[in-house]
Amino acid sequence: MRIAISGAGVAGPTLAYWLRRGGHEPFIVERAPQLRTGGYVIDFWGLGYDIAERMGIVETVLAKGYRVSEVRIVGDDGHRKSGFPVDALAGLTDGRFTSLPRGDLASAIFSTIRDEVEVIFGTTITALEDRGDAVTIALANGEMRTVDLVIGADGLHSNVRSLAFGPEAGFERDLGYAVAAFNIPGYAPRDEDVYVMRAWPGRSISRFALRDGSSLVLMVMAAEAMGGAIPADTVGKRAMLRQVYADMGWETSGILAAMDAQEDIYFDRVSQIELPHWTSGRVALVGDAAACASLLAGEGTGLGMTEAYVLAAALAGHDDYRRAFADYEARLRPFLADKQKSAREFAGAFAPKTRLGLAVRDMAARMLALPGAAQLLVGGNISDDFELPDFPAGSSSR
Ligand SMILES: Cc1cc2nc3c(=O)[nH]c(=O)nc-3n(C[C@H](O)[C@H](O)[C@H](O)COP(=O)(O)OP(=O)(O)OC[C@H]3O[C@@H](n4cnc5c(N)ncnc54)[C@H](O)[C@@H]3O)c2cc1C
Repeated sequence: MRIAISGAGVAGPTLAYWLRRGGHEPFIVERAPQLRTGGYVIDFWGLGYDIAERMGIVETVLAKGYRVSEVRIVGDDGHRKSGFPVDALAGLTDGRFTSLPRGDLASAIFSTIRDEVEVIFGTTITALEDRGDAVTIALANGEMRTVDLVIGADGLHSNVRSLAFGPEAGFERDLGYAVAAFNIPGYAPRDEDVYVMRAWPGRSISRFALRDGSSLVLMVMAAEAMGGAIPADTVGKRAMLRQVYADMGWETSGILAAMDAQEDIYFDRVSQIELPHWTSGRVALVGDAAACASLLAGEGTGLGMTEAYVLAAALAGHDDYRRAFADYEARLRPFLADKQKSAREFAGAFAPKTRLGLAVRDMAARMLALPGAAQLLVGGNISDDFELPDFPAGSSSR
């Protein structure tokens, strides 16, 4: 089948890779003018790690990755108040765990399809018409194409989802937090392989030093601290972050000053996406577009790769795309619903809104270092209660 994929992030290129394995002919439409690089540092393990291994990119991922030694929670004076060794988490995954910039993971995945799959950068699908026997898509660059299936892999604010399923507001569960992330070249101080975090009630700032001399900054804040909607433009985003973090201590003033020189500022609500179905006619969704669990799951990339793999495996294993779509949903929906639920339960611990909440979180962090405590406290969130199907050889759906 000829299959249009919207989005060259994490799920889209993974899907393209496996669709090719199933004998299909995918192409990708990506809004950005080129592959997006950089971005926040993500933790990568579990099913995503297993799929990366099946795609032959684990070596590259590990080479780009960092072995974070500690999450260190500091006070205003920069001294350690609490924290936990990340080995405690890596141990729960038998060492199959790394942390790397999202863009490095995306480019490792992209390298598997670069020479095989057509990718149209700098455009988007503006309209789609599902005629029953095929789908016609119109692109912003003026092109029209007729395809067998359209897959939305275009992230939390998916365009294909809006076109085929309806407006985002109907599917978004706002978790009451926002997150900002940006990179500061040449930032000091640096603490190699340590994730340094300063938290106040309802807001936190973390920094992580990268090998190229820059540091990634992540700010998490409760909606109550923001006093309004997130502005769309960079100047407005900077102004809001300056206002939310005004007069906070620690390194805040230096970070805010350095932020003023950064153009690429990620700033968005922390939301989940919940849809009654991930497929409609000849259109399907994967990744954050289908079932975003948010950064609170710490596993969105792996989950997006899993959806892409399972959908491609279903399309390779069934003659009829309708049965493949039904199989895809039946296999994954309960698992993803569970992941979303545990991410929501984790929200309070991730960004406590009160002093008491912060104290309890810090105590739990200290306990993670005790033998057996990591398994007890976060083992359920870390483990993936889902077995990847084998990829069927040969057949492909129509
Ligand atoms: C601050 C933060 C921290 C996170 N930490 C982690 C972590 O530790 N571990 C983890 O696994 N996950 C983490 N995540 C989640 C993870 O980044 C996402 O779940 C994952 O990237 C989703 O992959 P995706 O391919 O579905 O979407 P994305 O990676 O968002 O890719 C979507 C792609 O679609 C493109 N696109 C968008 N609109 C259009 C359009 N109209 N037309 C064409 N293309 C379009 C975009 O340019 C992009 O290339 C974090 C997320 C955030 C925000």
